[in-house]
Amino acid sequence: MSDCIFCKIANKEAKSNIVFEDDMVVAFRDLDPKAPEHVLIIPKKHIESINKLEQVDKELAAHILVDVVPKVAQKLKIDESGYRVVINTGDEGGQTVKHLHVHVLGGRNMTWPPG
Ligand code: 5GP
Ligand code: ZN
Repeated sequence: MSDCIFCKIANKEAKSNIVFEDDMVVAFRDLDPKAPEHVLIIPKKHIESINKLEQVDKELAAHILVDVVPKVAQKLKIDESGYRVVINTGDEGGQTVKHLHVHVLGGRNMTWPPG
C-alpha cells in the first residue's frame, strides 16, 4: 500500500535498521524501542493484521514463527536469556501501524500481565 510506512520500509523507500531479510519478510529495529532489544518482523506483502491473514498466508505465517523469530532472537543474542513475541491487533490490542508486525523484545525482564 502506497501510504503504509511498513510497505515503504519493506521496499526500501523508507530507511530502517534491518537485522534480517529474505524473500518473504524484513526484520528491523523499532524506532522507539520498548526494551534493550526490540525488533519488528513484517511480511513484505501488505497484510493489515492477523484478522486479514488468509489460507494462502499459512506458509508465510509459519515461516515467521518457525524460521524468522528464532533466527532474529539468535542474532540479538536473547534466545537463551528469553524474549517476548507480541502481535498487537486492532485498536484495543494496541496496534498503531496497520501492517501486520511481530514484535520481538528482550534484554530485560518482562513483566506480566502486559499493560
Ligand atoms: P504497534 O503499536 O502497532 O504494535 O507497533 C508499532 C511499532 O512500530 C511501534 O513500536 C513503533 O515504535 C514502531 N514504528 C512506527 N513507525 C516506525 C518507523 O517508521 N520505523 C520503525 N523502525 N519503527 C516504527
Ligand atoms: Zn503495508
